[in-house]
Order: sequence, then C-alpha cells, then structure tokens
Amino acid sequence: MSGRGRFFLPGPTEVHPDVLAAMARPMIGHRGPEMETLLGRAQPGLRRLFGTDRPVVTATGSATGMMEAAVRGGVARRALCLVNGAFSQRFAEIVTGCGREMEVCRVEEGAVHDPAEVERRLRSGGFDALTVVHSETSTGALNPLPDICRAVGDAERATGKEILRLVDGVTSVGGAPVRADDWGLDFVLTGSQKAMALPPGLSFAVASERFLARAEGLEGRGYYLDPVRLVRAAESGRTTTTPAISLFYALEAQLERILREGVEARFARHRAMADRTARWAASASSTGGGILAAEGSRSPTVSVVMLDEGITGPEVVRRAGARGFTLAPGYGNLKENAFRIGHMGDHTMEELDALLDTLDEVLR
Ligand SMILES: *Cc1c(COP(=O)(O)O)cnc(C)c1O
Repeated sequence: MSGRGRFFLPGPTEVHPDVLAAMARPMIGHRGPEMETLLGRAQPGLRRLFGTDRPVVTATGSATGMMEAAVRGGVARRALCLVNGAFSQRFAEIVTGCGREMEVCRVEEGAVHDPAEVERRLRSGGFDALTVVHSETSTGALNPLPDICRAVGDAERATGKEILRLVDGVTSVGGAPVRADDWGLDFVLTGSQKAMALPPGLSFAVASERFLARAEGLEGRGYYLDPVRLVRAAESGRTTTTPAISLFYALEAQLERILREGVEARFARHRAMADRTARWAASASSTGGGILAAEGSRSPTVSVVMLDEGITGPEVVRRAGARGFTLAPGYGNLKENAFRIGHMGDHTMEELDALLDTLDEVLR
C-alpha cells in the first residue's frame, strides 16, 4: 500500500509531493546568478530554523560529513564527548578518526546528560571542545542543550580555557527550538532528511566567530569538508563544489512551506505528536515499558517505544509494514526490544492517529 502519511521512519522522513515536484526543474549553472539567487533565498528560512543571524553553510553530503567538519575545525587537541546513544557515539568516533583525543562522558541509553556532571568533567581540565547530540535519534532523548551550554560557559570561566560547543542538531533543527546565537553554539549542524523533511543529500551548519578563529589556526582540515572553506563560500553566497542543485530546488520549496505553517506551530505540532505517542504507549498492550526516555527529556521528533518479551522490534515493523506503514526497529542494542516512530517533518496528528490505531491491531 502506498499513499501519504504512512512513512514514519526517523529519517529519511516523508517528503511532500510539492517538494518532490520542485526537483523536476531543469539544471542551472552552479557558478551563475541563478544559483546565487537560489542560495540567497534559502538563507532567511535556514537562519530562522537555526536561530542565528550568521550565514548558514550548506554542503552536498549527509550530516555525518558536517559532524566531521565540526571536529576538523573545532577540536584542537582533546574533546569531551557526551554519549547517550548511537549518534553521539559516532561523534566520539569521528574525533578519534580525525586524530584528536577524546574522553567519553556516558549515560545510559534513553537518559540525558546532567549539566552539573558535564561542568564537573570539564573543570578537571584538558578539554578544548565538547561534542553533544541535541536529539539522540537512537533513543528518543532530548538533551537539555541550553543548560549544558551554560555549564560549558561556567567551566570556561573556571578553567580560563576556551571550550567549543559542537552540536549535532540533526533531529532537532527544524523540529524543535534551536537558538545557535543565544545558546552560544560554536558549530551546530543538521542533514536534509530528518526534521526538515527533505530528501537526503544536503547538510547545513552554522559556525561561530570563535569556531572560525580556531579552525583557521588548525592544520589538516582537509578540503571537501574544510569548515573554513565552507563558511567562506556561504558568506559570499556560493558553494565550494558542484552542489546537488535539484535538492536546492526542494529546499526552496520546503522552506516556503515551513514558513507558511509557522516555525512555532511546526514545533508545537511535533511536541503534540510526541505527547500523543507517549500517552498511547502508556496504555497499549505489549508496550509495558512505555517510552524509553523519561518524561521531560523526550525528543519531540522521535519516540522509542519499548516492547514486552512476547514481540520483537523487527516483528512489529514487519506487521506494520504488511498494513502499509513504515517504522523502524530499535537502534543498535535496542533493536529487538523496541521500535521507533519518527513523527517529524510534515506528519500530522491525523496520520499519527491512524498509525497508532494500526499498532493497536498489530500488538493485540
Ligand atoms: C541521522 C543522524 C545522523 C547521521 O546523518 P546522515 O545524514 O546519515 O549522515 C547524525 N546524527 C543524528 C542525531 C541523526 O539522527
């Protein structure tokens, strides 16, 4: 069965037909005025979603590339990596992969980081950067990012050392409030195929002045993912290499749709869907554990529903699939005993209700 409102993966998310149709336009030269106009027109909407007055960098490539750019420009020697799931673990591995040192600060899957503990770890010294995933898509937990940023600031004052805040906002930017400037984020990134509900293939980021200052002093930043080149190109309304032009058509169409709905209304819609999912999970059969993340630290864009012994994540996914709905099993360690609902992007409450009704049948 096909049709809209049935594709609930936590990335890629469903893409609206108008956005898909926008990609059918003919090519333009990527060094010409048309591309410059296209890039320029995307800036106000992107800046709104990132909460910044700075230029938003766009790159062709998935979000992991931007995570690498964050590390290449933002970690001088050693980072504290906040890990609470698979994507935050990936951030830590990228630090090592880029030849920097790191120390992991880990909490259990489903939990979020405690700002006081983060400050304590940073005060012990020796760190020049922090990596954190705002909305951990593998566990459905939303880290208290503004409080963590304040804790980093306190540690900076205590140690007299600059500690850059490197933030993965892949399932928060476009889905939940993110304020890069107010929260003092030094590098915050996202990909196109999650909360922004675009096809995969683009990534976006904002870099602070002090990130740029540090990055310019670092060697071995690479070339394609050199954050300094990416930011300089963005500042002059260009891209560094041939961009995925069709995806920029989609971006223009989707930003228009997002601004028409209203950013705050969009965030409220996501939060309401997360709340509805949690209420459902609390009373549905076979979901004895309810939602993995605790109330108050749940992501508005993705829910991880725990399962009783009698049924596995892949089995729920299979049965929902037979009824025309696409879901994801738990991620990594949680594969067997959980499943995930991505209620981000353009999904509506009516669509979610139809899914939850179907899950009632599936789990009965
Ligand atoms: C999906 C995801 C990524 C990786 O994105 P790619 O576009 O596949 O590189 C990174 N972080 C989070 C939180 C994600 O959800």
